[in-house]
Amino acid sequence: MASDMQSAWFVDAMVKATTDCWEKGWDERNGGNVSLRLLDSDIAPYAPSVLRQIPLADPIPELAGQVYIVTGTGKFFRNVQLDPRNTLGVIRLTHDGAALDVLWGFADGGGPTSELPAHLKSHLARQALTGGRDRVIMHCHATNLIALTYVLELTDANVTRALWEGSTECLVVFPDGVGTMPWMVPGTEIIGEATARSLGRRALVLWPFHGVFGAGPTLDDAFGLIDTAEKAAEILVKVLSMGGPRQTITTSDLTALAARFKVVPQPEAMALTGWRLASRGGE
Ligand code: 13P
Ligand code: ZN
Repeated sequence: MASDMQSAWFVDAMVKATTDCWEKGWDERNGGNVSLRLLDSDIAPYAPSVLRQIPLADPIPELAGQVYIVTGTGKFFRNVQLDPRNTLGVIRLTHDGAALDVLWGFADGGGPTSELPAHLKSHLARQALTGGRDRVIMHCHATNLIALTYVLELTDANVTRALWEGSTECLVVFPDGVGTMPWMVPGTEIIGEATARSLGRRALVLWPFHGVFGAGPTLDDAFGLIDTAEKAAEILVKVLSMGGPRQTITTSDLTALAARFKVVPQPEAMALTGWRLASRGGE
C-alpha cells in the first residue's frame, strides 16, 4: 500500500517554509499563502485518489492536470508545523481547468487560500517566462516592505532603485527588480490578474499596504528572494528614521556589480539617479 503523503518531502518543505516565514514575523494570524507545483514523479509514489472536488470561479484550462501543494484559507502559518494535514492541501486541476481535485489534506473540510487566483495566474505567467523552471509562488506580509509602500513613490523603477541601494546584494539577487501595482481588494480575480502580469516580468511584486509576492524554482529560492528584499527594506526604514541617506550605492557602483555578477539590471531603474519619496497627501 502506498504510504501517506504526510511523509512526502514536499509536506516537510512546506512546513519548513511556513515556519520560517512565521518566525520572521511576516505572517501574523492567517496572513500569507504559499503554493508549490508538484511533478507527477512527486505524487506517483502515493497513488492518490480524489477525496472531493472544489469548483474554480474562473477556470484556467492552461493549467489542466497540474498538481500543487498549497496553504489553506484562514490557516495560520504558526500552526502548519503542528497540523499539516488540516493547514495544507494537495490539489490537481481537472482536465478542463474548471475545478480542483483534492488529493490530500484540507482534512477539516477547508480549502485552498483565498489568493488562489493570484497564485494560479502567477504560476502560468512564471512557467511561460522561465520555461517551467519556477514552481513556487509565495505571498507574505513582510513588515518593512509594507512600511516602504507608505512612503516611496510607487513605480517599478523607483522601488527597485531604492531596494538596490538598500543593500549591495539586491541587484544581484533581483536584477529584474520589483513590480508595483495600485492597492486592490485581495482575494479577487482582478488582483490576481494584475499580480500575474507583474510577476510575468519580475520575480517580486509589492502589494501596497498589504504584502509581497515572490516567485522562484524552489521554496528556498522564493523565501530567499523575499528575505533579501525585506532585509534591504529594513535597512531603508532605519536609514529614513535616521534622517535619510547622506551617501549611497551609486549608478556606477551598480554598473560594476552587474558586470561582476553577469546580470542584466532593469534599465529603467539604472536610468534613475536615485529614488524618491512619494509626494505628501498622495492617494
Ligand atoms: P488566506 O488565509 O485565504 O490564505 O488569506 C491570507 C492573506 O494573506 C490574504 O492576502
Ligand atoms: Zn495577504
